[in-house]
Amino acid sequence: MAHHDRKEIKCSFCGRGKSEVNVLIAGITGHICDNCITQAQSIIKEELAQKADKQLESSLVLQKPEEIKSYLDQYVIGQSDAKRVLSVAVYNHYKRLLQRNNNTNSEDEIEIEKSNIIMVGETGTGKTLLAKTIAKMLNVPFCIADATILTEAGYVGEDVESILSRLLQAADYDVALAERGIVFIDEIDKIARKSDNASITRDVSGEGVQQALLKLLEGAEVNVPPQGGRKHPEQKLIQINTKNILFVCGGAFDGIQKIIERRVKTSSIGYSSSKENVVIGDENLLQYVTPTDLRGFGLIPELLGRFPVLSYLNPLDKQTLRRILTEPKNALIKQYIRLFEMDQVKLSFDKEVLDYITEKALDYKLGARGLRSICEVIMTDLMFDLPSRSDVKSHNVTLDYAREKFEKSKISQLKAA
Ligand code: ADP
Repeated sequence: MAHHDRKEIKCSFCGRGKSEVNVLIAGITGHICDNCITQAQSIIKEELAQKADKQLESSLVLQKPEEIKSYLDQYVIGQSDAKRVLSVAVYNHYKRLLQRNNNTNSEDEIEIEKSNIIMVGETGTGKTLLAKTIAKMLNVPFCIADATILTEAGYVGEDVESILSRLLQAADYDVALAERGIVFIDEIDKIARKSDNASITRDVSGEGVQQALLKLLEGAEVNVPPQGGRKHPEQKLIQINTKNILFVCGGAFDGIQKIIERRVKTSSIGYSSSKENVVIGDENLLQYVTPTDLRGFGLIPELLGRFPVLSYLNPLDKQTLRRILTEPKNALIKQYIRLFEMDQVKLSFDKEVLDYITEKALDYKLGARGLRSICEVIMTDLMFDLPSRSDVKSHNVTLDYAREKFEKSKISQLKAA
């Protein structure tokens, strides 16, 4: 060695000499050894985690259920029962988060359980919209996963962990943020057990997936492939704790009305107490839905146990559809007006046009999603022509015009089907 005479360089933090450490990195005025780097790293990690917790606490303005509901009212029309149930569930969920952060020295050991939610209702009645709106209000990451693409690990399809990959992506790979997010699982009814006799063949798409989902719901550390999809062996897995993630499920549960009806009727005969004597008319039977009915439909009890909150949605009637067209904060009609505004055109609609759109959505059983397609066929030509016509400063859509465009469209030919 050439520098025998020189004083041995030392770590400026711990004072160990070069010979006592593995690596010594030189800075401008000193050195740092690998031990100290490792230690510093864990200090940083801890500090950052504490900071994130504090941030969460200050960002979680606990909104009262009533406030949550009126926020939902701005975006979702009707469905007041579901809104009330959801508002309470979300309120309690965040109370629970705050409790976890605050009393580390809680002595009474009353632990508030998570309030995962199942919503039963026809497709297109606002289940996804409700969950999405809540996530927006809370400013937490939100993702939608379709239960139909899930399979048990090892089968063709996506592993259940891929749901969390999406949440992680929605959180921009911030694990702490993702761990407080909301996951909406759509079409949960499609993974129902097909028959009560599970012994004949393995039920890949049904019960097995329910079992796999349980793992996510139980509040465990789950290894998540960051890019989603199937697990690639070379992909580094990220650990996510699902303890504080709120799971909301939606499903149409086609045919559950029969199960409910049977139960409601037999119980009214069996007990013949006046309270149980529900007179069933045209009303929405789903309002009587209980976990037992979902079990009858093929959800396993363990899974149902993880979803303590159950609510239902009403089918959209004419009045509701009409309101959806114009009332929500980002209502379709408002969106078209804004689009034309950007071309300096003042757009308006005859009232009859809005009624017409609503009627057609009902006639063709297209629901709220249909409103959008019908509006598009009516508006496309205008959206094509008007931007090039600088002489047009305003435009009013009349019933004759709307009818003409609709009747020429592909949608209007659906009727025969
Ligand atoms: P679901 O999840 O029940 O199948 P979505 O929430 O995805 O239905 O709704 C489909 C579309 O219809 C969305 O674009 C949504 O804006 C609209 N929509 C449905 N129900 C409502 C409602 N009650 N209020 C406002 N918009 C609604």
